[in-house]
Amino acid sequence: MKEIVISRRALLMRACQLAVAAASVFIAGCAKKDAVAACAAPDQLSSGESSLRASLQYIEQASDSAKACRGCVYFHAAADADSCGKCEILNGAINAHGHCASWSANS
Ligand code: SF4
Repeated sequence: MKEIVISRRALLMRACQLAVAAASVFIAGCAKKDAVAACAAPDQLSSGESSLRASLQYIEQASDSAKACRGCVYFHAAADADSCGKCEILNGAINAHGHCASWSANS
């Protein structure tokens, strides 16, 4: 039987490579989640649109999913229910998972 000799340095290098690979997978997963959350690029909104979003405290991810834009009377969903939709109050793309101070239950 052939004995395999691995130096401590090589073992540490391999451990670091595995840690970096695991961190990369984690970061890639987070980046994908963020990409889904961002519907409208802030730099593509007019100052009036940005101001209205700020005054209504619009956020891309509702803290209470029961009060997300997809359940709001002013929301018009895209063909894919989880994609960005339109709002009768705010211009530009609106996140189905978003929320603002004008949220009103879609009955
Ligand atoms: S009014 Fe507010 S909560 Fe309702 S769809 Fe528009 S942005 Fe979302």
